[in-house]
Amino acid sequence: MKIKNAEILCVGTELLLGEVINTNVAYLGKALARLGISVYHTSVVGDNQARLREAVTAALKNADLLILSGGLGPTYDDLTKETVAEVLGLPMVRDEAILREIEEYFASSGRIMPPNNAKQADIPLGAIALKNRTGTAPGIFVEHNNKVVVLLPGPPFELCPMFDEFVFPRLRDMSDKILISHNIHIMGMGESEVEMHLLDLMKTSVNPSLAPYAKEGEMRLRVGALASSEADGEAMCQEMIKKVKASPVGEYIYALDAEYIEKLVVEKLKEKKSTLSVAESCTGGYLGKRITDIAGASNVFAGGFITYSNKAKIDLLGVNPKTLELHSAVSSEVAIEMAVGARERLDTDIAVSITGEAGPNPDPTTNKDVGTVFIGVATRDTSYSVKLTVSRQRDREYIRKVATSRAMREIVKILA
Ligand code: ATP
Repeated sequence: MKIKNAEILCVGTELLLGEVINTNVAYLGKALARLGISVYHTSVVGDNQARLREAVTAALKNADLLILSGGLGPTYDDLTKETVAEVLGLPMVRDEAILREIEEYFASSGRIMPPNNAKQADIPLGAIALKNRTGTAPGIFVEHNNKVVVLLPGPPFELCPMFDEFVFPRLRDMSDKILISHNIHIMGMGESEVEMHLLDLMKTSVNPSLAPYAKEGEMRLRVGALASSEADGEAMCQEMIKKVKASPVGEYIYALDAEYIEKLVVEKLKEKKSTLSVAESCTGGYLGKRITDIAGASNVFAGGFITYSNKAKIDLLGVNPKTLELHSAVSSEVAIEMAVGARERLDTDIAVSITGEAGPNPDPTTNKDVGTVFIGVATRDTSYSVKLTVSRQRDREYIRKVATSRAMREIVKILA
């Protein structure tokens, strides 16, 4: 049979209580996407047989493939296997080979198998047992009535290797599609404005699909194409990327499939054999920290100045006291002078500066422009500034993060 769509059902009361983060669903979701199998629903159900039965029955109505995680242990509340067998109408049979493996697993660590572990060797009739190399509970792969059901143990260190070794290859043979996806990175244009320009395209594009998601201070558009071959999928994605580039959003795209902007900055600087320095006020060294997080930054990053006070701006960067008096420290003029000062002092090809109000405002009766940030840029030929207005005014950390990301976006732009 061919599998087109799937559901993932994670079993465990600890997941519902928020005691354990559901990382299995993320792992399985990503893997199924790579296989070109569409996941339409994922859900979590506690260790309760009636609700589990209900969830399995509902999932099997819609999905070709159901993957369950958890509840394969030897204890009374581990009910997944029995419940699935019951819904599928399959009797449970004891697999002697698995029983021996479990006994051996215990023996290898000098223990005797407790009798209730024998239950882990019971599998639905006709199912394939999947070897558990990192635990005792075997997984189950069962194809029945044009449905595939896969049962995997809950602990991620058991589930992940079992899925990769025994489930992924089987599913690959059962999927006739492949999913190709790309991320378009956008900075400087807000989420709603991006949507305004691309809403029609997003709504009308099913395959390839175009979906937005916002990250701190940046937007991403995920382009995904379900195709019969990698080449077809790639061509479909590129066609969509071309459309986005041609839209008003195009000029705010700073990268395709970038991991982190700081990594991109270091790579671009290396590529263009350029050097960088920074001058920071409200971000207090955060920009320098993010750049130096990248191994190899020393080849391109000269250093920087943390000039929090006006005195430091004057003494360390040569900012003119008159400029500070006339325009205040949070201004385009000061941002430019900071960048020029840093660039000249460290003799780099590029310098960026950040000066702004990171808030929060301790005295709401005064009119402070919290969230207003100026980024200054200086190169050997020119200097300019960019004004940034960050809307989440109560979140100091967020404002600082967005400011540093935006400054890096300017560096990438210069090096384009
Ligand atoms: P065991 O044989 O260890 O009992 P099991 O298949 O019965 O395995 P559960 O008892 O449901 O699995 O879960 C065991 C542990 O695995 C949980 O306490 C939790 O730490 C982890 N776990 C379970 N489900 C998930 C999940 N979806 N994401 C991340 N961790 C999980």
